[in-house]
Amino acid sequence: MKADILTIFPGFFCGPLDHGITRRASEMGLVEIQVHDLRQFTHDKHRTVDDRPFGGGEGMVLKPEPLFECLDSLQLAPREDRVAGRVKQSVILLSAQGQRFSQKMAAELAGLERMVLICGRYEGVDERVADFLADRELSIGDYVLSGGEMGAAVIVEAVTRLLPGAVGNEASTRQESFTADIDRDSAGPNSTCGSGGLLDYPHYTRPAEFRGIPVPEVLMNGNHEEIRRWRRQRALEKTLRNRPDLLDGAALSEADRILLARITNDRN
Ligand code: SAM
Repeated sequence: MKADILTIFPGFFCGPLDHGITRRASEMGLVEIQVHDLRQFTHDKHRTVDDRPFGGGEGMVLKPEPLFECLDSLQLAPREDRVAGRVKQSVILLSAQGQRFSQKMAAELAGLERMVLICGRYEGVDERVADFLADRELSIGDYVLSGGEMGAAVIVEAVTRLLPGAVGNEASTRQESFTADIDRDSAGPNSTCGSGGLLDYPHYTRPAEFRGIPVPEVLMNGNHEEIRRWRRQRALEKTLRNRPDLLDGAALSEADRILLARITNDRN
């Protein structure tokens, strides 16, 4: 995959994407990340990228020209082909007003050949960019950041780790929180393989006792069926406690529902 990031702060990306899986994936050629400095696409001596908003109001707005020119230079397929899915390319505008980015979207984006991320700044970006240049607007959460760079880094990281070969043990990316599609033949909602859309179960490692706090006994008895059941119960408990909204869309078995009813009863 090729990921292009359009920003007025190219230096921001020296660091966040240079570690761990993203770095390894770059070195392995699974992802090629290119950062484009929008000031290179200005024509005045001050390299102006922003201007005052028409109609008055607070702050400055990112001008459309550098963004359109930069995107032209990338020579992507026409927007209508991208939006219709006829090519595996997508242009994404980072915006607090966008659709909320999710693990499901990360999996979709991991199927692209090219992903372009436009980072806004100031009060935002001239709306013609959202309407005529970008294919979609994505938000990384219901809060307002000063720029789209953090969001771009989040999306690149979440997508890169889903590229085949990026994570050493690929099964681990299928067992994580929010990973809704479980392989029912080999796993099923009762299995620890695939969260079925729940939060992940708790993990422990050595030492078996730390500062007087032991690792749950069940994890050390070698009984795989008991371990599987215990993990599923903990995943259900944690999801109910921290993200009950996820339970509506989760793949729950009859046994899960009975467990949930019991947990809810115990809590009341
Ligand atoms: N005036 C805008 C609003 O109220 O929605 C906020 C603009 S924000 C200060 C500047 C830029 O930061 C945005 O253009 C966008 O690129 C980025 N940004 C801010 N919050 C974001 C979020 N939650 N997700 C993704 N990008 C965000």
